[in-house]
Amino acid sequence: MSSGSRRRWVRRAAAGVAAALAFGSLSVIGAEASGGRHHPKPVKVRVMSFNDLHGNLEPPAGSSGRVTQADGTVVDAGGAAYLATHVEALESQVENSVLLSTGDSIGASPLASALFHDEPTVAVMNEMGVQAMALGNHELDEGYAELLRLQRGGCHPEDGCVFRRRFTGMDFPVLGANVYLKRSGLPALRPFKVVRSGGQSIGVIGATLEDLPSVVVAEGITKLRFGDEVSAINRTSRLLQRLGVKSQVVLVHQGDTPTSNTGPNGCNVTAGPGYTIAKGVSADVDAVFLAHSHMQYNCVVDDPRGNPRPVIQGLSFGRLVSVVDLQIDPRTRDVLRKKTVAHNEIVTRTVTPDPAVQAIVDEAKTKSAPLANRVIGSITADLTRATPVGGSGETTLGNVIADAQLAATQNNGAQIAITNPGGIRTDLTYAASAGGEQPGQITYGEAFAVQPFGNVMQTVTMTGAQLDEVLEEQFRTGNTRITLQISSGFSYTMDPDGAPNERVSNLTLDGTAIDPAASYRVSINNFLAGGGDGFSVFTEATDVTAGPIDLDALVAYFATNSPIPPPPLNRIVVV
Ligand SMILES: [Zn+2]
Repeated sequence: MSSGSRRRWVRRAAAGVAAALAFGSLSVIGAEASGGRHHPKPVKVRVMSFNDLHGNLEPPAGSSGRVTQADGTVVDAGGAAYLATHVEALESQVENSVLLSTGDSIGASPLASALFHDEPTVAVMNEMGVQAMALGNHELDEGYAELLRLQRGGCHPEDGCVFRRRFTGMDFPVLGANVYLKRSGLPALRPFKVVRSGGQSIGVIGATLEDLPSVVVAEGITKLRFGDEVSAINRTSRLLQRLGVKSQVVLVHQGDTPTSNTGPNGCNVTAGPGYTIAKGVSADVDAVFLAHSHMQYNCVVDDPRGNPRPVIQGLSFGRLVSVVDLQIDPRTRDVLRKKTVAHNEIVTRTVTPDPAVQAIVDEAKTKSAPLANRVIGSITADLTRATPVGGSGETTLGNVIADAQLAATQNNGAQIAITNPGGIRTDLTYAASAGGEQPGQITYGEAFAVQPFGNVMQTVTMTGAQLDEVLEEQFRTGNTRITLQISSGFSYTMDPDGAPNERVSNLTLDGTAIDPAASYRVSINNFLAGGGDGFSVFTEATDVTAGPIDLDALVAYFATNSPIPPPPLNRIVVV
């Protein structure tokens, strides 16, 4: 236990004693008034969870750092030190509380956390007093063995202890009721944790999306099997019932997309994988926390016995805390469902940042600076996201990134790589930057700024006809064309003024015409694979094989191909 979490534990214990005393005196008064026949008052326990923090220690920038409210107004939100302050305020409003995370706390993180294998984020979560976390897909970005290291502590096997001299691991378990060891079928992670609050036991069941292998690098999870969420949760719920733990909450790293924005506490979710799980799990489960889709909603959904229970998700990057206030009947030890109240609390930045968490954030920022300046390769001239006037939208940086992704997925049989321009966040400039390196040298920090999302590459099978269709989708919104960036060897002709669905033609691969009926292996990132930016045809692709993180592909390409000149813009021919 770190000093921070010990401090919090002491505070929680003190609150518990205070609650017991208050409860005791109320009982006495009640007993006198009713002549000895009294019903014990329900015990109030506040259960809080945040989801998809993704190592956002510093307040996230741009739209990633804003919450849109129901009336359309936006509020700046997020930042670990602000999150800690809001959690403390929520804790101080009640006598009993529990803090949880619904997964993707780490992985796809900004540089200050990512450079240290997210050890700074683990330190922040320990300091905040997180009691249990559901496994998210990004917790497995660096594989199962690395997750176990983060759980148990110890230095990284290759990089050593780079954040602090010692790393003691998570003070809380990572839960995954539907995660099994392939060979034995035994649980690969703890399925649940029983937390005590206000003298009551609450069973916290964690599960992750069954489809996790489609969004995680395959080689890190070869030992694992991911099963059906509902059956695993229900099996765990039955076990808890047998143990006498009647109050149960579920953390599922899966979620949905509302049909429209109704603010942090609206509910416009009526379908989707998260909703299906939330509706389907045992009626003994009293609340469901969702994640993964980075959306905000606060719904009430009937359980299989027809009793309503909250189903809630709180955006991402520490912008919201999902709060479920339970009332537990001490006689039945079960939740009085009708008394449950839930809300999403906005992590505004108008409060004082928590000093202990801020100190960890500052330490990570300071220590990441030299590593960010590590030279990974060089360029001979600027690589940019610019396209000539009247150009196709093809860019030099886009071409290099697509080529890097093709090279990094050769093991998957990739023939073509396609990437979205929105995933390329800034240019690589030849001039020496503030990092102090020579002109033309590219640092890890610069590459990270270009590809900060930690998207996972996937290689899929598409027909030639589907390739044509997905390129036609570049034009579906009229003037706001989104030109996909394509790898060397793949080429086509674009007629921006052509008739709908006839703007793309003459597709070739290494000079040979693409056959509409033939199959091709195409590498895309997980964002496009999910139909991102409206490229729905990608979702029809088959035979998904996972590859590396996009940034790792770019770094590896710089290592083998430097110095890299700007490629000619001749892959897409405009007529
Ligand atoms: Zn996720």
